[in-house]
Amino acid sequence: MPHPTVATSRRLEDVRYDIRGPLSRRAHELEAAGKPILRLNIGNPGLFGFRVPQHLRDAIATALPKSEAYCHQQGLLEAREAVAAQHRRNGAEARPEHVFIGNGVSELIDLSLRALLDAGDEVLVPAPDYPLWTAATRLNGGVPLHYPCPPERAHLPDPAEIEAMVTPRTRALVIINPNNPTGAVYPRELLAALVDVARRHRLVLLCDEIYDSVLYDGAAFTPLAPLAGETPCISYGGLSKVHLACGYRVGWLSVTGHEHRVHDLVRALDLLASLRLCSNVTAQWAIRPALEGPNEIGALTRPGGRLHAARAAVVDAVERSEFLRMVAPDGALYAFPGVDPERLPGFDDAAFALDLLEHEQIILVPGSSFNIAARNHFRLTLLPEPAVLADALARIERELARIARN
Ligand code: PLP
Repeated sequence: MPHPTVATSRRLEDVRYDIRGPLSRRAHELEAAGKPILRLNIGNPGLFGFRVPQHLRDAIATALPKSEAYCHQQGLLEAREAVAAQHRRNGAEARPEHVFIGNGVSELIDLSLRALLDAGDEVLVPAPDYPLWTAATRLNGGVPLHYPCPPERAHLPDPAEIEAMVTPRTRALVIINPNNPTGAVYPRELLAALVDVARRHRLVLLCDEIYDSVLYDGAAFTPLAPLAGETPCISYGGLSKVHLACGYRVGWLSVTGHEHRVHDLVRALDLLASLRLCSNVTAQWAIRPALEGPNEIGALTRPGGRLHAARAAVVDAVERSEFLRMVAPDGALYAFPGVDPERLPGFDDAAFALDLLEHEQIILVPGSSFNIAARNHFRLTLLPEPAVLADALARIERELARIARN
């Protein structure tokens, strides 16, 4: 008699995270069969020869003996003070009692949405988005309302369009700046207008700033919390990208806004944080040295730096491409090119990604995995050596030419 499969939660029905989805499983199979894969699908610096800065490695190594006990559910006080001080340097009224340290920003995104949402509550999420925001909204009973950030507008949102989407059930506005996957860096006036929408409709601002110092060619990052002032705002940052330490699994959030309005939110976050006791203690000792010491991302993203050269290699290849168009990224670790629909009508991003994997052993992420309806984009990371990226773009062009011929 066949054994019925174990039923899983219906909450998972609409939940997707394609960056590590079926395509990634196929890549593992190919690798196991002896075919090396170029992994352009994940922004994971350690995979491409980047090392965590020495002073952070030293901090972790010496922290082991003082990391044997659980710490406070919100995180080590020294680490929370360093996060709050960074926000205060930017002009926000942050304090350590309103900072929470987590096992990566990922955990804190889920924690915040769990703290905020009742079934049917709506969250305004950018499209394209970093898809954890949509997944975690659904997982916590919420409804994502995707506001468009199309290439025709340099991937920037339109505050009036967002305001028109607000209903009595809308609770929060997610902003990802600098943006993953598009690389857009939001101008100060745009952020001020988004704060204004949140203020007028009593929305909580959820601002994912994990790429805050990954900036190219003079792009300027504006932190949201100082602009938000008394409007409730949760700002997220972490060690994974700016400090090249994805594997340490360290992220933080800081709640700002009018004391009375954020009081219950901080209490709810504290309860949820206490249910998982605390985040990895050893890794938290790297936070203060990361925020107060030197960081290497500036040198990597300036002219002469490896990420700067990698971005230039991709921009150059796309400019020369017969099929691709792109708004060059101003920040973050990705490029998000689109296929010109006039050159390749009926292009299907998911089918293309699978063919590229089978034919060229390159894995990237189809644009529709970032919650947009258009099916002509894909995302690749800028982390490989520039020459490797130039070669990958040549192979992508070869695959596009193959499609054009058929
Ligand atoms: N937010 C954004 C925009 C990201 O791109 C990522 C990872 O790629 C995360 C959050 C999660 O980062 P982590 O959990 O490593 O802190």
